[in-house]
Amino acid sequence: MAKRNSSELLIQDLTEILPARNILTSLEDRDIYSRDKSNLPNKAADAVVFVENIEQVQNIVKLARGRGIPVICRGAGTNVVGACTVEGCGGIVMDFSKMNKILEINAENSTVRVQPGVVVGELQKQVEALGLYYPPDPSALAISTIGGSIAQSSAGARTFKYGSTKDYVLGLVVVTADGEILRTGSSTVKNATGYNLGSIFIGSEGTLGIVVEAVLKLIPKPESKKVMLAYFDTVRNAVKAVNTIIEKRILPATIDFMDKNAVNTAEKYSPSGMLCDKEALLVIEIDGCENSLENTRKVTVDVLEKCGACAIRCSGSDEEYEKIWAARRSSMTACAQLRDHVTTDDVIVPRDKLARLVEGIQKICTKYKLISCLIGHIGDGSVHPQIPIDYNDEDEYSRYKLAKKEIYDLTVSLGGLISGEHGIGSLKRDYIHKFVDANALKYMRKIKEVFDPDNILNPNKIFLPE
Ligand SMILES: Cc1cc2nc3c(=O)[nH]c(=O)nc-3n(C[C@H](O)[C@H](O)[C@H](O)COP(=O)(O)OP(=O)(O)OC[C@H]3O[C@@H](n4cnc5c(N)ncnc54)[C@H](O)[C@@H]3O)c2cc1C
Repeated sequence: MAKRNSSELLIQDLTEILPARNILTSLEDRDIYSRDKSNLPNKAADAVVFVENIEQVQNIVKLARGRGIPVICRGAGTNVVGACTVEGCGGIVMDFSKMNKILEINAENSTVRVQPGVVVGELQKQVEALGLYYPPDPSALAISTIGGSIAQSSAGARTFKYGSTKDYVLGLVVVTADGEILRTGSSTVKNATGYNLGSIFIGSEGTLGIVVEAVLKLIPKPESKKVMLAYFDTVRNAVKAVNTIIEKRILPATIDFMDKNAVNTAEKYSPSGMLCDKEALLVIEIDGCENSLENTRKVTVDVLEKCGACAIRCSGSDEEYEKIWAARRSSMTACAQLRDHVTTDDVIVPRDKLARLVEGIQKICTKYKLISCLIGHIGDGSVHPQIPIDYNDEDEYSRYKLAKKEIYDLTVSLGGLISGEHGIGSLKRDYIHKFVDANALKYMRKIKEVFDPDNILNPNKIFLPE
């Protein structure tokens, strides 16, 4: 009888854990599931598996550990930092799209218990129908998953008022690198019971454990909401308006920003009537009780006008509200029409340094002759420079790399960080030492060793071993 090679043996062992229909083995399929929105080059996974329950996850992890094969979790693959690409050491891609059930909505407790493959937008729809609200809002919410957003510590447009994913995770069930179950937290809103172990998994990018269930906090759904567009002739005036709104004790759900290039590009791709000749646009969402919303709108408009807004538009209908948000959300896709690829970054600074960051990034991109579309959750101090490039154009790519380094240097000099919400993945791991001090990095490596001594969980993401 012909001897089986190691990959045939792996598939054979996997079929003892999962039905064969849940395992992809063709090169084409393995390659597709080994990529994410970072566009980074990848290696094809050894196998792709679609898990349906916790036991299967445990058994696959035990199998992988025994064979020294990496396990790379995958939600929808929308992360933009190479957090779930398969690299040189190969691995099993574990896809959670079949573990996508909302297990229990507890209206009395304001909690929801979910499997990791639940799509964020779907969860929002279901809880909103009951008058509840799950605010974290990564813009790719129509496809991105709860597991992925916990692992990336995702945030999005509503963080300014409501906080990010980490503020809504009350309890987790995690499969550890040795295939055991670890439970953290509970359904309670407070927890001072020992170390806050759950928080270590939030933002760990699938490198410390596999989230197989989560209990999330819900809040009452705001009664009413409106979105406003405010245009400015200078970035400085737009930033000044953001700070003045906050000084006036108005707490919008969202204060987002688009520069002139971003507005023009989005408008060409998905016209929504935005003005294309202004330097800066603020997209401000206000929400709350129906009877106080009009007053909030008036005060906000007054502040915007005093800070030099040259035009203000407020959504008058649900249809207009959706149209404005669709245009804002389409920004990255719109940029991707300009070149073969689009890179998006995620730098964040204290809010009082924002104008310097935005103007600095614009200057750097002009210096290196790169197109840039800047958007950001500016209320949080977060800026996403989107730079469309052609990776095959060597000259353009090397100019992009120089620009990126200068953008990071500028961010460090302003006391900022390399990521507010997208994570590090493999794309930014070479820069992490600039933002995390050597001692903190040493402790991060120790934590990885404790949870995953054989380095099988999404190896080499966030930082490389020493
Ligand atoms: C157009 C666009 C706009 C975006 N806007 C935002 C934004 O505004 N804010 C924001 O924060 N992000 C944004 N993102 C990034 C992205 O959508 C988020 O990071 C999202 O939460 C990732 O979810 P996912 O299901 O696609 O995860 P994936 O990309 O599949 O995985 C992300 C990470 O989670 C790990 N993982 C997945 N499931 C599990 C699990 N069950 N257990 C352990 N680890 C797991 C993976 O290994 C990987 O490390 C945007 C992306 C795009 C393409």
